[in-house]
Amino acid sequence: MNRSLAEQLDFDRLHLWHPYASIDRPLTTYMVQSAQGARLQLADGRSLIDGMASWWSAIHGYGHPRLVAALQEQAARLPHVMFGGLTHEPAIELGRRLLDLAPAGLERVFFADSGSVAVEVAMKMAVQHAYAQGQPEKKRFVALAGGYHGDTFHAMSVCDPKTGMHRLYRGILPEYFFVERPRVRFDEAWDETCCQELEELLARRHREICAIILEPVVQGAGGMYFYHPRYLQRVRQLCDHYRLLLIADEIATGFARTGTMFGCDHAGISPDICCLGKALTGGTMTLAAVLTTAQVGHVISGGEPGVVMHGPTFMANPLACAVACASIDVLLDSDWRTAIAAIEKALRAGLEPCRSLPGVADVRVLGAIGVVQLEKAVVMERIQPLFVEHGVWVRPFGQLVYVMPPYCINQGELRDLTAAIVAVVGEETRR
Ligand SMILES: *Cc1c(COP(=O)(O)O)cnc(C)c1O
Repeated sequence: MNRSLAEQLDFDRLHLWHPYASIDRPLTTYMVQSAQGARLQLADGRSLIDGMASWWSAIHGYGHPRLVAALQEQAARLPHVMFGGLTHEPAIELGRRLLDLAPAGLERVFFADSGSVAVEVAMKMAVQHAYAQGQPEKKRFVALAGGYHGDTFHAMSVCDPKTGMHRLYRGILPEYFFVERPRVRFDEAWDETCCQELEELLARRHREICAIILEPVVQGAGGMYFYHPRYLQRVRQLCDHYRLLLIADEIATGFARTGTMFGCDHAGISPDICCLGKALTGGTMTLAAVLTTAQVGHVISGGEPGVVMHGPTFMANPLACAVACASIDVLLDSDWRTAIAAIEKALRAGLEPCRSLPGVADVRVLGAIGVVQLEKAVVMERIQPLFVEHGVWVRPFGQLVYVMPPYCINQGELRDLTAAIVAVVGEETRR
């Protein structure tokens, strides 16, 4: 690594695709040399407070000694072995921890490689569940507008049809049912009419539907929207009534991000299938899990072909499972409720001044998630360098400037992070 920083960045610009970015007109990228706690160390010497936790995942911050030790020990012992016909302690230990933690009734675990793949597996399971019961016509899904479930094809098919670019893939993507996202926000007074569209859809079409998929309480990448937990209770009732499966995509909300261990815990409900990912390994590497009830597992096993038709090469990767166990232990050994409540309070106080800025449509906070919604979409080329100049890592999308920092962030860092957002949003909206 004795090439100059400029040379390295030139190569990156010319040859490497970044997420949702043009290869011919790339945006600026910043070289990260290392990271510790809630801070990213850039190669040019600057240090940034991380507001993004690497897209919800680095809940304990970077370089946590217990996570590092778990990775090192497991790497030396058994970094990987195929899961077909073989098993290992990290997978078993992680399975135990997940079932202890997850909403009641979830008793079977399928390990997948990433969040999107977990959603694919969950959807396959729902289709197989109907098929095994002699109802092959039940193969469509219901999803919420404003939802996000990943970037592979079937995951995309249940993402918001507009922001999910369904137009681009017309004829390739299956077409499913969408209902408006729940109108009643998290902290508003509940209104039963909020479920009417879903009730009407299910009354008419339930015979074609195998499952409803949603992100519990917080819709993430589809709009950073927080809705009323009573909606989940009503969806649970409707699923029971029509005998549909409820798939909870907890990939973003899992592991305490919203103030409860899982999003479903706000409503006290259990899904039939639950997808976990992102923070599962504490942000160190990719791993996801699909949890189901014993009943779902049993029905799938009883029908044709009797197995879940999925088996990735790196299924239950021991390295990922070992670090996931360590991450869950660190979380459970901490006073996470108090930590999240303190972050929530600091985000509320710190982001409040944004509310009176012209060009700001809404400011909302739930758990360790803070959102400033603008009236117009940000200009990324302009706003990104401003955040870096202010010493923070915040990556907005569209009209949304948002943060979900690592839980280890301290009050001083939270003050600096929110002050930077107030300053940058002020500059951006003044133009
Ligand atoms: C990020 C995310 C996914 C996709 O996970 P990947 O690991 O990026 O494939 C799916 N669902 C939700 C709710 C997510 O936030």
